[in-house]
Formats: sequence, structure tokens, C-alpha cells
Amino acid sequence: MLSLARGRFLRLFIGNMASGKTRHLLTEIDTLRRYGHKKIAVFKPMTDSRSGRGCIKSRKGDEDAAEEISATDPRDLWAILRAKESAAGCRFEVVAFDEVQFFPRNSGLFQLVRHLLDQGYDVLASGLAFDFRGEPFGSTPDLALLAEDRCMWMTSYCTKCGDRAPYPQRIINGEPAHYNSPQILVGGDETYEPRCDEHFILPGRTVPGVDEASPQRKIWPMEVTPEDN
Ligand SMILES: [Zn+2]
Repeated sequence: MLSLARGRFLRLFIGNMASGKTRHLLTEIDTLRRYGHKKIAVFKPMTDSRSGRGCIKSRKGDEDAAEEISATDPRDLWAILRAKESAAGCRFEVVAFDEVQFFPRNSGLFQLVRHLLDQGYDVLASGLAFDFRGEPFGSTPDLALLAEDRCMWMTSYCTKCGDRAPYPQRIINGEPAHYNSPQILVGGDETYEPRCDEHFILPGRTVPGVDEASPQRKIWPMEVTPEDN
């Protein structure tokens, strides 16, 4: 009986917009196909409209065909994968996903990817780390746990100053978007720019992690105030 190699790996390209995540994903796919002779199935959420229908595309212009699956219930992947394997007459070795942030945490993508790994597939993925609020985006952080040290952080640079830019600044009608605008806007007039900590502007932002009354802040103050003379 043929036994499958278990405990395959997930390689995740994670970072901000314009950091080369999709470009690196496409390079990896091309290398594995061309030199590793691997059969690869590529998927993306239907939510992704930037690349156009039925494909994934880097900002540089590289592209590859991709099957679109539901962002809220990505289990349609199984039927598509089986059909592709039947048509090819062999088992695929690698499954790739672009834009994994569009799969919400409760979509089941984490469990699906873990199952793919258990089934002997290697998995490649790319995803935005933070949303326009500077908060963890969809399934990306969950997949980072599965990727372990194969999580590759891609850097982008601030459009204002050129510093490292972790956050996507959402701009609507030339103004920074309010904290309360929805996490995902489909087909809107908004644009995005990579921004650093200093130039990331988010009107209405609350800071839930900060406790002004915390005793630690009194014992170890974060801000040093000049001493009175
Ligand atoms: Zn900046």
C-alpha cells in the first residue's frame, strides 16, 4: 500500500501591500513547476478583485491561473482539487493560496490547510498581515502558526518617508479612512498606500490594549518627562 509522507510544510509569504508577497508566491510556483516538476493547484478567494477573474497577478505583472473559491466556506476546494487530479491522472503535490487574509478566521481555512498538510500536500500561501486598522487580518495570523519558521516576512516601504511600512493606509476621497469603515470594501473608490508607524493615520482609533490605570505604567513609565528645576 502506498503510504503518504505526512507532516508536509506550509510556506507563508506575509507582510503589507506592495511588499512582493504575490510575486514571491508566483516565483515559488514557477520554480517548483519548472525545476521540481511538481503538480500545483492554485486557489484564491472570490473576494479578490485586484488580480482580475481566474488568475493571480503581482504588481510587477507576473501572473498564473487560479481557481476561485468561497472566502466564507473554502471547502469547495476539495471538489476542484479532485477534479484536477482526475483530469491530470495523478495526485497533485502542492496547493497554493493567494490573499489568505480575505478568508475570515471562522471560514475554516486554518483547518482546511492543516488537513491538506495531513493529506501529504505542501502548501504555499501569501497574505496581508494587517488590515487598514493596523489589526490582524483574517486567516493570515492563523496560518503563520502552521508555517512556523517557514513564515517569510515581506517588507514594504512608506510612501511618505521610505521607512519600513507595516500598515496599509486606506484613503477615501483623498482622506484617511475612519476606524469604523468596514474591514473589507468590495469595488469601492478607496485606495491604499503602505505607511510607517508615524505616517499611518486612523481617525477614531481606539487603543484597547492600553490600560491607563495600569500599575506597571506608574512603576515603569513609558514616557520620560523632563525633571522640574
Ligand atoms: Zn513614513
